[in-house]
Amino acid sequence: MSAGRIPVMIPWLGEEEARAASDAVLSGWVAQGPRVAEFERAFAERTGAGHAVAVSSCTTALHLSLHVLGIGPGDEVVVPSLSFIATANAVRYTGARPVFADVGLTTGNLTPETVDAVRTPRTRAVLAVHQGGVPADVHALRAACAEWDLPLVEDAACAIGSTVGGKPVGHGALLATWSFHPRKLVTTGEGGMVTTDDADRAARLRRLREHGMNASAAERHASGTPVLESYLEVGFNYRMTDIQAAVGLVQLAKLDTMITRRRALAARYDRLLRGIPGLCPVGDPAHGQSNFQSYWVLLDADFPVGRDDLLGTLAAAGISARRGIMAAHLEPAYAGHPAVPLPVTERISRDSLILPLFHTMTEAQQDRIVATLREQARG
Ligand SMILES: *Cc1c(COP(=O)(O)O)cnc(C)c1O
Repeated sequence: MSAGRIPVMIPWLGEEEARAASDAVLSGWVAQGPRVAEFERAFAERTGAGHAVAVSSCTTALHLSLHVLGIGPGDEVVVPSLSFIATANAVRYTGARPVFADVGLTTGNLTPETVDAVRTPRTRAVLAVHQGGVPADVHALRAACAEWDLPLVEDAACAIGSTVGGKPVGHGALLATWSFHPRKLVTTGEGGMVTTDDADRAARLRRLREHGMNASAAERHASGTPVLESYLEVGFNYRMTDIQAAVGLVQLAKLDTMITRRRALAARYDRLLRGIPGLCPVGDPAHGQSNFQSYWVLLDADFPVGRDDLLGTLAAAGISARRGIMAAHLEPAYAGHPAVPLPVTERISRDSLILPLFHTMTEAQQDRIVATLREQARG
């Protein structure tokens, strides 16, 4: 059996992406231009959104989304602590205060009940995450937010191609944000997207990502006559390049194949891990399907080894697992930041680990991981 190291994730990139990037370079137009526009159209279609606005990362997508909602100093935004730290940080960029809510144990996501528990008169928005690709119950969250008259932003960084009630995550979202970091399914190296059904909001997002300019560089270039741009408000430079978009277009066309493969590997993990006492794998929630961007297992008291020791044993066996989703409120960056008790968040972040799962993973690699887990389960 091969003793090679098994990484937690490998992006599925090949010759086609390399050629697309090369074509973009050779075209002479490398900044935001026609390929970004084409990627946006393809992305909106795939996610069932009216408009897609490409940006430099999901972090900047989150910042812009909160900015266009007018969130600012004195406001509170309800977020899960159980998320990559960018979710909470984006709230900080606006000057508002992230208020951490707990999550459901099986999905790792906000629920109407956990949001309601921390809502105050200063709450101006709810920022829900589709954690690790597991879709949040957006129908329940949207209904609750409508009742409270609060906008719901969806951090879908991990969840491209996940579904809720048969529809892609992002469908019907007020604002959803996406990541193309290589740890996610579709990658452009770095990159992000905001989707929305609102044409005016999309137009403002396009302006804000480009210094608040009323005419993009590409538009000015395409126009035969001089276009004197003006700067309508203070914006940002959050643009994506055409080189990235060229890669993204190829990646997006491979998405369905990626998801089929990841779901098959996740189902195989489930079959092989079933029956190991004290080890509980993440699965699809009742309301939708995951793309299995992350496949995590939660250890309970029956498991004879602690999470960190188990990670160490796996690493020694050449298997790169990862600690489960982090809890932002436990990080030094949030020391002293007030938070209600978050028992489920702390339990998931302390007792879960993410197992390797990538497109080109072999059954032999998966068997090696399962064998190591089974051995540890025997104590
Ligand atoms: C990865 C991730 C982000 C940040 O995405 P970038 O594109 O790297 O900025 C934000 N939120 C969640 C939930 C993520 O997993």
